[in-house]
Amino acid sequence: MKLATRIFIGLILGIVVGLIFNLAVGAETGLVKNLLTYLISPVGDAFIRAIRMIVVPLVLASIVVGTASLGDIRKVGRIGGKTIAFYLITTAMAVILGLLLASVFTPGVGTTIKTEGVTYTAAKAPPFMTTILNMIPVNPVDALARADMLQIIVFAILLGIAISLVGEPAKALLKVIEGLNEAMMKLTMFVMEAAPYAVFCLMTRTVTNQGAAILMPLAKYIIIIYVGLIIHAIVVYGGIAKIFGKVSPIDFFKRVSPAMLLAYSSASSAATLPLTIECGEKNLGIKREVCAFTLPLGATINMDGTALYHGVSALFLAQLLGVDLSIGQMVTIVLSATLASIGTAGVPGAGMIMLAMVLESVGLPVSAIGIIMGVDRLIDMGRTCMNVTGDLACTLAIARGENAIDYPTTIAIHSKGRPA
Ligand code: ASP
Repeated sequence: MKLATRIFIGLILGIVVGLIFNLAVGAETGLVKNLLTYLISPVGDAFIRAIRMIVVPLVLASIVVGTASLGDIRKVGRIGGKTIAFYLITTAMAVILGLLLASVFTPGVGTTIKTEGVTYTAAKAPPFMTTILNMIPVNPVDALARADMLQIIVFAILLGIAISLVGEPAKALLKVIEGLNEAMMKLTMFVMEAAPYAVFCLMTRTVTNQGAAILMPLAKYIIIIYVGLIIHAIVVYGGIAKIFGKVSPIDFFKRVSPAMLLAYSSASSAATLPLTIECGEKNLGIKREVCAFTLPLGATINMDGTALYHGVSALFLAQLLGVDLSIGQMVTIVLSATLASIGTAGVPGAGMIMLAMVLESVGLPVSAIGIIMGVDRLIDMGRTCMNVTGDLACTLAIARGENAIDYPTTIAIHSKGRPA
């Protein structure tokens, strides 16, 4: 069976078992509690930890190799510029779609959610200039140790450029980093063998703990976000695949489905990154130097799902609190949500923290996040899935423009869970 199929089965089984636990047995019952504590949670967490273990060395190695093998600085600049432009434009489109849907379907009007007594204290966001300056690591080793992705990316791009400028004397270094890159990809394949089981465990835990009851009052809000994510995927990513990537949208989604499923269940773009790169290379046939450059960048800064969620949530909360937002404030939301999604780390729940910045930008009370906090995981899974799909769609478009695709006739990942 293909990996995507196995992951999908794990996901569905996890939902079913989680519902049984939650509804029939109860999340607080001794047996369920013990199963969660001693079996289900550890298996899910072990998998996520194992993937996270790969991410820092992989991002460093893959971007250095990617940048160095692009050859000249102009090419790095051109691809980098195009990538960032693609990422920014699709993100802004996602926020606008979110705002449109929330304006038309007004999920926050006429609902009976108690708004008093909910509290949420936001961490203070650093000033804009500090954020920009913080992208430059004073100490790359420290950046690696703290897994500060933006700093690692900046360092890796510069190192890659330097290696290619130095030429011969730096060849040995490049070889070492290439080896590290290969080894990390191999390690990914090992860890992926466990993905279906881990996904089963992660889903079981989430559904057992959250159940269906918590979703009811927020059903309309959640549905609108999911509808938005699906529209964005079909129209924007399907369109990009077709127009820029010259690939049938259905085929595109099929080929990226392993990464989509893992993103959905792990709710982390960073944890999905190794598989995202595999899908880009093996299933879409995109040259490694492009994948290795654009995908880690995307996993760090390109979060369309998160941006759409920011748009819908800001409007939903405003409606709930009876605040009317002007057109000017909507424009502010588009800008702040685009920036906030760039600043969102690719880990579970990060988008909700950054929502504070969006709410603050239009004077909405940050404490209102407390209203939607309980269902965040469910939304997080959907938005992460779109975040990752967006990275692959843009990468496909850029690779086509660079003539860097050798589209395979068969899908390589994964017959029997192993690369062909
Ligand atoms: N979990 C998301 C991601 O990893 C970020 C978010 O919370 O929106 O892409």
